[in-house]
Amino acid sequence: MTADAVTSGAGGAVRTTCPYCGVGCGVLARPLPDGSVEISGDPDHPANFGRLCSKGTALGETLSLDDRLLTPTIGGKTADWNSALGLVARTFSRTIAEHGPDSVAFYVSGQLLTEDYYVANKLMKGFIGSANIDTNSRLCMASTVAGHRRAFGSDTVPGTYEDLELADLVVLVGSNLAWCHPVLYQRLVAAKEERGTKVVVIDPRRTATAEIADLHLALAPGSDIALFNGLLDHLDRAGVIDANYINAHTEGFADALATARATGFDGAVTQTELSAEALSRFYALLAENRKVVTVFSQGVNQSQVGTDKVNAIINCHLATGRIGKPGMGPFSVTGQPNAMGGREVGGLANMLAAHMEIESPAHRRILQTFWQSPRIADRPGLKAVDLFRAVGDGRIKALWIMATNPAVSMPQADTVVEALRACPFVVVSDVTAETDTARHADVLLPAAAWGEKDGTVTNSERRISRQRAFLPPIGEARPDWWIIARVAKLMGFNGFDYGGPADIFQEHAALTTVANNGSRSLDLGGLAHLDNAGYAAFEPTLWPAPASGDNPAGGRQFSEGKFNTPTGRARFVATRVARNEPHRDADRDLILNTGRIRDQWHTMTRTAKAPRLMTHIAEPFVEMHTADAERHGLAPDKLVRVESEHGTMIGRVMITERQRPGSVFAPIHWTDRLSSMARIDAVVTGEPDPVSGQPQLKHTPVSVKPLGETWYGFAVLRQRPKRIAADYWSMAQSRGGWRVEMAGITEPGDWTEWARNLFAIEDDTDLLAVHDVGARRHRFAAFSDDALHAALFIEPQPVSISRGFTSDGLTGNFPSPSDRLRLLAGRPGADQPDPGAIVCSCFEVGANQIIEAIVGGNCLTVEAVGASLSAGTNCGSCRPDIQRIIHERTVKEAV
Ligand code: SF4
Repeated sequence: MTADAVTSGAGGAVRTTCPYCGVGCGVLARPLPDGSVEISGDPDHPANFGRLCSKGTALGETLSLDDRLLTPTIGGKTADWNSALGLVARTFSRTIAEHGPDSVAFYVSGQLLTEDYYVANKLMKGFIGSANIDTNSRLCMASTVAGHRRAFGSDTVPGTYEDLELADLVVLVGSNLAWCHPVLYQRLVAAKEERGTKVVVIDPRRTATAEIADLHLALAPGSDIALFNGLLDHLDRAGVIDANYINAHTEGFADALATARATGFDGAVTQTELSAEALSRFYALLAENRKVVTVFSQGVNQSQVGTDKVNAIINCHLATGRIGKPGMGPFSVTGQPNAMGGREVGGLANMLAAHMEIESPAHRRILQTFWQSPRIADRPGLKAVDLFRAVGDGRIKALWIMATNPAVSMPQADTVVEALRACPFVVVSDVTAETDTARHADVLLPAAAWGEKDGTVTNSERRISRQRAFLPPIGEARPDWWIIARVAKLMGFNGFDYGGPADIFQEHAALTTVANNGSRSLDLGGLAHLDNAGYAAFEPTLWPAPASGDNPAGGRQFSEGKFNTPTGRARFVATRVARNEPHRDADRDLILNTGRIRDQWHTMTRTAKAPRLMTHIAEPFVEMHTADAERHGLAPDKLVRVESEHGTMIGRVMITERQRPGSVFAPIHWTDRLSSMARIDAVVTGEPDPVSGQPQLKHTPVSVKPLGETWYGFAVLRQRPKRIAADYWSMAQSRGGWRVEMAGITEPGDWTEWARNLFAIEDDTDLLAVHDVGARRHRFAAFSDDALHAALFIEPQPVSISRGFTSDGLTGNFPSPSDRLRLLAGRPGADQPDPGAIVCSCFEVGANQIIEAIVGGNCLTVEAVGASLSAGTNCGSCRPDIQRIIHERTVKEAV
């Protein structure tokens, strides 16, 4: 073991991996004497070479004790580990004895480490004997898994990140890489600057990613298959298909081409609703450039026809032989940090560990023998959507949820909440005490958090990296693998005596070699004998990592044209041509698309703890096109109610030209903890793809109507408010306290009483109030000694004060009456310009400052703005936003 592999830099920073997205950036974490942790990018990690995005950069601010689950609880009361685990083991054993193995289920997460995942899967499939273990990765990339298996015979990503830098043309389909995989996006931007890589963005929205696009195709939602079928037809007609490759290494081309022909160019124009000119340009780019990488993500996967979309893309690469070679290939990027690790150890209900197939008796035999287990699941278990349906109708009677928040993230989330309420026994192991899911748990188990746990994760390019502990576990928190293994032993099962994650990793790596002989590309034979020291020192490694040490072709797969199908040939799939179009009617006349925003992660249990990450976008919003807003009588910044047949969400309308007419967009992140009614997945229908089981999250018919509010409020408070008597509210942590946006349909009779209740103060001794009754404006501030306790601004229109200035009041001093009145003005003085909404969270540079630099300072490039304000010069996540402001401002000036 070399110490440098574990620690690096001055003061011995620990080398670990970011816990957020599938880019899998290396992180240096250095605990400081004051208890804080200094975070920087690992310059030696091959995923990021020292870069981090805004979320990664702020990791040190998310490690606080706030909201942490510190002890096990039973029925909401603190319990010891023995009691809690004993109850879990007894209840699962009894339920299985009475109702059979399929009456219990695990719902796990791409946040788990590979070792945790491995043990959970082993317990469920090998010892309980059911395959009812599924993962939130089902919501993320199950269609890619299914598409890979259909085409390649295995779930193998062919290329590496380097291919994006070697390509002449990168096509991004359904991927807002700039916000969702920012460091990979920055690698692409750098390649474009260096060698002029052409970039095509295919997305109904003009996202931040489109700022670098040479061509943006805002196709009709659900028309991707027609687009790529049309492309296959065009490539054939243009004579750029590789007949030698097709003949030597594939099967099924004739059928796929016949299906593509049925669409043809005209069909593609009709289905995508793109202009013939735009489509011709796209097809010509694909014909002219051999080095093409097609990156795809949730916009492809989260669809009722997601698997066909994946195969329509792969078909085009197979037909041209553009796969497994430098700068070429279809490339799926995963949302979660360890979606790939979960796929490797059988975390999906239809897979076995080590990429073995549950339908194969031989594979089941191999696994049962290796585990020496009493039984083995012999058919696929329930996939996420069906799993929660089974919880709801009583087929699942005991459910264990690990490291995820399905009460927010599952489609038809209100139905999932009902199912959790009805389930006789719900166990939740998590880091956070009060998630929307945890409140329905009979038993809560405190899991070790990032920074406290040890293990491995695999990123989107198949690179395995270590997550290393650099802090002791808080309270009684334990690693997930330890919790699962203890329950397994208490249920009477052998085979779970692990001394630590290194033992589990060894077992996982050894399993990948059993009866493999090159038939499965996941081969970790070279890592099967890592001892504790070797595991501690483990360097980021691409798989396969066979015992022979061979990993030719720069780690690319299928470079020899040999695939993992029974014939060794890749399979074309004839993909359906019908556009996937859910029924709209006069009322639900808009299509809801959902996704991430730049600075937040999943259900915000961690990123919401970092005040600077809450400054970019602080409340839930609904983005819609100007024409739709006019048609629906909506004005900017008003509140809207988004409704489907399943649920309702309330958010602030954001009217832009970036949204495709007929579609609206809302972010996935907000929970009942942070907003009154913003769980967008309560609205989403989520019908699953019949092949992959992945639900459709981007295509729900909805109505968007005004909330009908008559007043608006904005407040800052030192303490999180306990109750907000408003029809809409949304809160965010700020430096020194909380900031809250509010609105109501009817005005309260006494605003002073209302303010006192919000501020949780008994009397008005320190309450300063300014009223303009005629204008329906009221302002309040409460002080404790010279410090601001809380302030409230009520207006009949959306409150137009400086959020930054007012929030900063929580960290200031207000000794004199004039200081206090200045705060109630809600704006800095003329000598202190308002920075506006924060764009660069690293240097806290606001939109007004950037506009001033463009207009007043003639800064017309991102670099010039950076030189003037430093904005965009640290993590770089805001650079597309700065580019967008420059673009919009220069267009405006030109007009
Ligand atoms: Fe983390 Fe950002 Fe890297 Fe993703 S791109 S792994 S969120 S630092």
